Amino acid sequence: MSGRVLESVPLPEQLAAVGRDPLRVLVVGAGVAGVTLAQLLRTAGLHPVLVDRRTAGADPGYMLGLMPLVDPALRHLGVEDAYRERSVPVRRYALRDRAGRPVREYPLAGLLAFGDYRGIERGELLAVLAAAGGAVTHGATVTGLAQDGERVRAVLADGIGEETAEFDVAIAADGMHSATRALVLDDGQVTGLDTGWGGWVAWTDSDDAPDRYDECWGAGFLLRTYPVRDRIGVFVGGPRRDTAAGPAAFAARVRGQLRAEDVRLDRALAAVAAGDGTRFWPMTDVRSATWSGGRVGLLGDAAAGFLPTAGIGAGMAIESAAVLGRLLLQATPGSVPEVLRRYEARQRPRVEAAQQNSRVLARMVFRSSRPAAVARDLAARFLSLDRALAPIRRLLDDRPEV
Ligand SMILES: Cc1cc2nc3c(=O)[nH]c(=O)nc-3n(C[C@H](O)[C@H](O)[C@H](O)COP(=O)(O)OP(=O)(O)OC[C@H]3O[C@@H](n4cnc5c(N)ncnc54)[C@H](O)[C@@H]3O)c2cc1C
Repeated sequence: MSGRVLESVPLPEQLAAVGRDPLRVLVVGAGVAGVTLAQLLRTAGLHPVLVDRRTAGADPGYMLGLMPLVDPALRHLGVEDAYRERSVPVRRYALRDRAGRPVREYPLAGLLAFGDYRGIERGELLAVLAAAGGAVTHGATVTGLAQDGERVRAVLADGIGEETAEFDVAIAADGMHSATRALVLDDGQVTGLDTGWGGWVAWTDSDDAPDRYDECWGAGFLLRTYPVRDRIGVFVGGPRRDTAAGPAAFAARVRGQLRAEDVRLDRALAAVAAGDGTRFWPMTDVRSATWSGGRVGLLGDAAAGFLPTAGIGAGMAIESAAVLGRLLLQATPGSVPEVLRRYEARQRPRVEAAQQNSRVLARMVFRSSRPAAVARDLAARFLSLDRALAPIRRLLDDRPEV
C-alpha cells in the first residue's frame, strides 16, 4: 500500500490540539467508521482525538465490496479520484453450486441504479479516507468514561500511562467487540447472532476476470473470490466444528467436494491451505439496543456489527459516519445529547434493515447438510438477485443527506 496515511503521534499532542476546539470530540477506533468521522470533522477545522488500540501498520487486511452508499462521504472528503484509482469496478457476480459448477452470472451494473459496486482492500480504503492527512495515536484506548450534564471525562491509556481528559462528545467506533461500548451499555443491551460458521481470508493473483465476484455455495462450506486492485481476496468458511481442523485440512475437504475444473477456485484453495497471512473470522454479528447514552455515541460495527454476507457493513459504517459528522458540525457542546439521539433516529432503522438482510442471506448461504444444499442449488437457478437485495436497493434509493 502506498500513499499518505494518518500520522501516528503521541497522545499529549492530540490532547493539546483538541482543547482549543469549539466542540471537543474523542473518536475511539481508527477503522473505517472512525477514520471517516475524524476526517470529516477535520475538513471543518476541528481536531478530534483519534485513538486505536492496535500498533501502527497492523491493520487486518481483507477485501471489501462497497456499495455506492459510500460515494457522498467520499465526495465530501474530496477522495473520489483516489478511491477509483485504488479500487476496481465489480460488474459481474457469478454464482456456483455445491460442486463449484456455474449456476448463473448476474450483471451488477443494472442492479444498482446509480454508482458502482467496487472492490478495495481494507488498508487501501483506510489510506484513501486518510488522504488529507491527520493524527492518530496507536496503542491507545479508553479505559473509563464518566459524564455529567456538561462533559464526558475519558481515561485514556497509551501503554505509557493513563491520562484523564475532558470532551464534549465521545464516539465508540472500535468495532464489533467494542470495549468502549461495554463502558456505557449493560450486557443485556447488546445482542447478536452466531451462525456457528467462520472462515479465513487469503490472497491470490489476479486473473482475466478482475471485474467478477465468484461465490460457491457448498454443503458445509462457502468459497468466495473477490478481486481488488492487482489481486483477488479469498474467503473460505464453514461450520466451526469443521474449520477447527485448520485451513489446510478444511481447504482439502472443500477441494474434495468440487467437481468443476476452475483455475481461480484451485488457486483460492491453495492460498488458504498455505495459511500465510490467513486470519480466522467467526461469522457473528451484534446489535446494540441503543446507540447513545448522554454524550457517548456508538458508530459502525460498535453500533451494529455485520455478517459479511450482503457486503454492506463497511458501506453502512461510512454512511453513518458521514451523517454523524454532519450533525456534529452543527452541534454546540450543549446540544450533543440531542444530536446523538437525532443521529440514532436517522441511521438505526436503515442500518438494522441492512443487517437483517445480511442475516436472511446467511440463512440461505450457510447450509451444512447435503439435502439442504441440493434444494438450494435448485432454487438458486431461479434466484433473483434483484429480489434478494431489495432491502438494500431501497436504502440506496433513499439515502440520507450527508
Ligand atoms: C472477512 C470480512 C469481510 C467483509 N466484507 C465486507 C464487504 O465486502 N463489504 C462491506 O461493506 N463490509 C464487509 N465487511 C464488514 C466491514 O468490514 C465492517 O462492517 C466495517 O469494517 C466496520 O467498520 P468499523 O470502523 O465499525 O470497524 P472496524 O473496521 O473493525 O474498525 C474498528 C477499529 O477499532 C480498533 N479497536 C478495537 N478495539 C479497540 C479499543 N478497545 N480501543 C481502541 N481501538 C480499538 C480496531 O483496531 C480497528 O482499527 C467484512 C468484514 C469481514 C470481517
